[in-house]
Amino acid sequence: MNEKLAINGGPKSIEKNFNWPVYGEPEIYAVAEIVASGKWGNPDCGDAIARFETEFAAYCGSKYAITCVNGSVSLRLALIACGVKPGDEVIVPPYTFITTASSVIECNCVPVFVDIDPDTYNISPAAIEAAITPRTKVIIPVHFGGLACDMEAIMSIAEKYNLKVIEDAAHAHGAEYKGKKLGSIGHVGSFSFQSSKNLTSGEGGIVITNDDELYAMMHSLRNVGRIEGGAWYDHYNPGCNYRITQMQAVLLSEQLKKLEAQTRTRNENGLYLNTLLEKIAGVEPLKRDEKITLHCYHIYIFKYDPAYFGGLSKADFAEMLAAEGVPSYKGYPHPLYKQPLFQNKNFMCYAIPDHVDYTNVHCPEAEKACSSDAVWILQHAMLGDKADMEAFANAILKIQSR
Ligand SMILES: *Cc1c(COP(=O)(O)O)cnc(C)c1O
Repeated sequence: MNEKLAINGGPKSIEKNFNWPVYGEPEIYAVAEIVASGKWGNPDCGDAIARFETEFAAYCGSKYAITCVNGSVSLRLALIACGVKPGDEVIVPPYTFITTASSVIECNCVPVFVDIDPDTYNISPAAIEAAITPRTKVIIPVHFGGLACDMEAIMSIAEKYNLKVIEDAAHAHGAEYKGKKLGSIGHVGSFSFQSSKNLTSGEGGIVITNDDELYAMMHSLRNVGRIEGGAWYDHYNPGCNYRITQMQAVLLSEQLKKLEAQTRTRNENGLYLNTLLEKIAGVEPLKRDEKITLHCYHIYIFKYDPAYFGGLSKADFAEMLAAEGVPSYKGYPHPLYKQPLFQNKNFMCYAIPDHVDYTNVHCPEAEKACSSDAVWILQHAMLGDKADMEAFANAILKIQSR
């Protein structure tokens, strides 16, 4: 097998187009119907938003769901509802999208980065416990790539220190831990419906909770501080207009009908791809604890060892793999605390204490994941079939034998 690599003009390992989002006439008709009704907005024009919220809460096994404009504002709603005060500390992982941490800044709180577990790339419970101070108020575990965090350990730490847990489930729609939907285990679960996510309406977000008080506050913050049953011009809380449109809501209701089957397909494909990659020296899938009853593979991550690829850098390998037709990426180039936002403390009007200094932060496992180890295959590729998974593994072998 000494074929010319696609990056050098050779044939691709796989020619298939993996489309995302997956949609058809039901989505088109549902949106058209709302457009034709003239009732495009919330809260006084139709019930599509409330209907989707009820459907999503039921799907997750939670009491309440509140939609909002995106999966960043949803974190902000959750943090404020959890009662954080200026200067409070919020524990976050460094291997995640920016808003897991920047939403904390927006609440005038201090993101405290703790390292990830190298076997799963999720926040390490031992590192969480070591980082707790009297100022710690909230933990935001991110189910990275859709792989569940060690929620048993995280919830017991939260209970021991009286902390709130906001699950950042932006990658984790439909995934499960011990048979429970992710997002439904912590005090609040936060999701994004941005266009790359496993459930999407282009943009959008949602929070879920079982707690009546958290629900009431997040609902109020989403709706310019109004309260349920209150008068239109009575504003009680420092919220904003974070509402979605009825068009988004019906699109989400249609997409939600497909989510469980899509999740199971990705889960099966991920398990099969694990067996294929385990046979290839120099690549290794992340570990899956048996408590993970369903993985939604928003990102299928494997570890790459350049020693088995003639010293080829991860970035070059990932570029070759993408050229072979595998929807893949080299992942984050560095952990979040390396961003200029944190390094330069460019927090503008936000009141972060002077002693906070991100230039001393080091999370060696996150740094290693970014610089040399982690390669991502994207969720829409995980909706393929077994032959596609075999083609992905063969593309890796082709690069290895170059
Ligand atoms: C996408 C994402 C968000 C933010 O969602 P938006 O809807 O894009 O604002 C938050 N956290 C994680 C982990 C994400 O991947």
